[in-house]
Amino acid sequence: MTTEEVISLTEQNILKTYSRVPLAFERGEGIMLYDLEGVEYLDFTAGLGVNALGYAHPVITDLIREQADRVIHTSNLFHIPSQAVLAKKLCGRSFGERVFFCNSGTEAIEGALKFTRKWGKQFTVPKTDFVAFKNSFHGRTYGALSATMQEKYRKGFDPLLPGFSYGILDDIESVEREVTERTAAVIIEPLQGEGGINFPDVNFMRNLEALCRDHDMLLIVDEVQCGMGRTGRLFAHEHFGITPDIMTLAKPLAGGLPIGATITGPRVWPVIAPGEHASTFGGNHFVTGVACGVFDIISDPDFLAGVAEKGDYLAHKLDKLREKYPLIKEVRGKGLLMGVRFDFPASEAVDYFRNERILVCTAGPDVLRFIPPLIITMSHIDRVIEILERFLREKS
Ligand code: PLP
Repeated sequence: MTTEEVISLTEQNILKTYSRVPLAFERGEGIMLYDLEGVEYLDFTAGLGVNALGYAHPVITDLIREQADRVIHTSNLFHIPSQAVLAKKLCGRSFGERVFFCNSGTEAIEGALKFTRKWGKQFTVPKTDFVAFKNSFHGRTYGALSATMQEKYRKGFDPLLPGFSYGILDDIESVEREVTERTAAVIIEPLQGEGGINFPDVNFMRNLEALCRDHDMLLIVDEVQCGMGRTGRLFAHEHFGITPDIMTLAKPLAGGLPIGATITGPRVWPVIAPGEHASTFGGNHFVTGVACGVFDIISDPDFLAGVAEKGDYLAHKLDKLREKYPLIKEVRGKGLLMGVRFDFPASEAVDYFRNERILVCTAGPDVLRFIPPLIITMSHIDRVIEILERFLREKS
């Protein structure tokens, strides 16, 4: 099949929910992707944060083969060894005490919202409401979309769920103003992804934690995009020294297989009883078997230190470019989730990079996003910086 044929088939048969780049890939290796015509691309998108270990990683491919030979799915009618082991690993390295497994980020958020509402029912005046944030992104299903405050995602789909209001990142008073006796939880991305790569201030996050404790509310951190090593720590909230009550994970957790997880702390899990939430595929042998291997690699302290070092290097190089080229308005992010804000559409830079056989993406209209596989090397970063500088020089 040629790329042209794929594009034609897509246009005839696939619902137009995506505006796609005219590329189709056949295989990947390390951090390189190869299109149907055999052209090689350096990938700084990692399947939107999913392919943390790149393509055809030997540990992942071996685990996939082994698990496929044994058993893929039995349902949650029965105990699932790899699910139990993965949950132990996740809890062992976090505040979590019990995990619910599902299949995507948005589904992990739905779990978080439902568990919170169940928790809120124990109060004389039931706590049913949520405070989320402007520029947030939590997913496309109705609960997650109701927590998402970006008009472009919500337009045309109202009415959304009642009980959601929105504060402003780094403005604790804006959150305080939204809190009532009915507020059950605050939900926040410890590093906003789709909203433009915004890393909150440490004092703001600590004040938010204190606000939640003072008003008997839960703190939910959505680490679907920024969790699992992406920021140089296993979980992004660790940068702030805070303890949430619920954390959602998804994208990189099974190295490319669909998985989501809602991790619950001691205040939350005791309120949930059998039958109150479920997922047919959630946490099956296949995905959790692979995720155990992915977790062992990413959670290794040396691996995480390497991500932090590469992230610092990337940030330093981007800052140098910002000093040199006024076209860059801001450099922001943490670890290997970095954004560069321009005062023109970031898609121009994406197109330029693509012509140079490098894949990057945007985060909002004017932010260029770097979210490479965590296994990149310094020389890959140098290559990307070289192309960005050439783009800026030509555009200046
Ligand atoms: N939460 C965050 C922070 C995300 O970045 C995303 C997806 O980009 C989601 C939730 C939704 O995840 P999914 O697309 O797997 O439903």
